[in-house]
Order: sequence, then structure tokens, then C-alpha cells
Amino acid sequence: TRRNLGRLRDLPAETLDGARVTVMANVELAGELDTVHQCGAEGIGLLRTEFMFMNRPTLPSEDEQYAFLRAIVEGMRGRPVTIRTLDVGGDKLSEALELGESPNPALGLRAIRLSLSRPALLEAQLAAILRAGLHGPVRLLLPMIGSIEELRQVHVIRDRVVKRLRAASVPLPDPLPPLGVMIEIPGAALSADTLARHCDFFAIGTNDLIQYTLAIDRSDPAVAPLYNPLHPAVLRLIQFTVGAAARAGIPISVCGEMAGDPRLAGVLLGLGVTSLSMSANNIPRVKQNIRRLSLADAEARTAALMALDDAQAIAALADHLLVNRE
Ligand code: PEP
Ligand code: MG
Repeated sequence: TRRNLGRLRDLPAETLDGARVTVMANVELAGELDTVHQCGAEGIGLLRTEFMFMNRPTLPSEDEQYAFLRAIVEGMRGRPVTIRTLDVGGDKLSEALELGESPNPALGLRAIRLSLSRPALLEAQLAAILRAGLHGPVRLLLPMIGSIEELRQVHVIRDRVVKRLRAASVPLPDPLPPLGVMIEIPGAALSADTLARHCDFFAIGTNDLIQYTLAIDRSDPAVAPLYNPLHPAVLRLIQFTVGAAARAGIPISVCGEMAGDPRLAGVLLGLGVTSLSMSANNIPRVKQNIRRLSLADAEARTAALMALDDAQAIAALADHLLVNRE
């Protein structure tokens, strides 16, 4: 209910045994900020920037992107905003980019691959994001990183952008925004220990991680029943990634749809994830469930379900992580 929501908004996402979880919002449009605040988000864990490139025949300039981002960062009033570079291609399209046909879009020139193939585009976007960091705590996030080489290339381009801006006396935040990578390709998850040494944080994108791990098109209804976030392979990849982040001492969050499902969020907690980002509308339900769970219980049940090999038994055990007392 609405009154319940208002009450929950100001309560922390804390388990019965005192583990604090950070609950943030995924944002796709500037108009969502009111909802983000109403739902009690502690920040924006994923700002998708595709909206700046949609429904227009030309590309937005650096200044235009900066103005967009600045408004969002200021609208968050000091709460952190993780801004992702362009993630078009695959299921997300933009006419301004004139992408053309790809025989297999989900495996094609998309996300960071596209950005690296068009350095001017990436430079403008990096400049706009770095400059937005003057107006609040900003983090810079790269989609679909698949290899350490891609990350190195981005570092080189980022350094070049910083040099250019400094030479032009454009003010930049000091320190510069942290640079993180999305873990959403199975190969990236399995390289998480190496990647963790070359970036400042991880954000696991379970929507794509599930799609690529199980070879199930996330947008094809014909295979939707096979799209299983609780598949042992998916859970193992998340577990390995969480461990790699912990060993390297970098923060990690999950920002796929999985984080916005109270029951699956319980499994993520059990895997050691303490930062979740989701559609703002899902925050109250997820927070309420976290407040009714004990972390020790979530860990024990998750360990138990990871030892099972039967999808139905796994799902049944995960159901226990949905604590419904209404
Ligand atoms: C994901 O893949 O889980 C993710 C958060 O990114 P998007 O849904 O924008 O591809
Ligand atoms: Mg993704």
C-alpha cells in the first residue's frame, strides 16, 4: 500500500541479523527521478544513457550529453550515480548511429565494441560523464566488456580525454570518477580476477549474463521458459565474480532484473552481494523482503541450493527466501 511505501522509504534495507544492503535504482529516462526518490533509492546503480541517442536523426554533442547528465546528477542531491556508456546494438537501437543490419545482433557490434569502433563517439561520452562528476558522486561504467584489452583501450581513450579537457581548462572532478565494468559475458565473469585488478568496481548485468550463459535470447518469447536465473551455471558465475571482487577489494553490485525480484535478491544476498540496483518500482518489495530475512539463513539456503542438480528443487529452496507475512 501507499502508506506502507512511505514508511519503508525511510527504513534501511537491513536483514534481521543486521547486514546492511544498499538498494539503488536503474534509470532509463530523466523523467523517472521522482519515482526514484519516492521509492527510497539510495542512488542510481545504473543510468542507461541510450535515451540520449533515441528518436533523433543526429548524435547528441558532448555539451548536450553533459547537460542531460548534470541535471540527473543534481537531481540525485548528493546520492551516487553510476553512468553507463552507450549500450546500443543487440536489443537496443538508435537511428542516429546508422548501425545497419547485423546477422546476429546480440553477438555483434554492440555496447563497448561499438563505442571502441567509433572513438569520437566514445570520447564525447566519456568527456560528458567525467564533467558530470563535478556535480555529485559519479561512477563511470562500461557495458559488455569481454576482455582486458577492451578495458585497456578505454583507459587510453579516457586519459586522452582528460588531457584534452585539462588543456582546454575545462573543470574536472578530483579525483576522477571511478571506472567500472559490467560483468555480463560469461568470459568476463570467468576473467573476473584479472579484470578486477584493472578497474575500480564491478556491476553484474544478469539479464545478459543469463542470456549468454544459457544461449537463451532474452527477448524471444519462444524460449522464455528456459531463461532461468537459478541455473547452477549462472549462480556459479555470479559466485566466482563476487569472490574475485572481494579478493581484489573492489565493490560489486548486481543491476540485472534478478536484483529486483525479492526471492532472487535473497539468493544474491546468499552469494555475498550487498548492493542491488533495480527498477525503482521494485525497491519497496525487495527492501521489505530483505528486512524479513536473516543473512545467515540466506547464505545457508543458497549454499544448499547450489549443491542441488534439479531445477525444481532449486526453485523450491529459493522460494523459502521469499518471506511473506502479509
Ligand atoms: C543486464 O544485462 O543485466 C543489464 C543490466 O543491462 P541491460 O539490461 O541494459 O542490457
Ligand atoms: Mg546488459
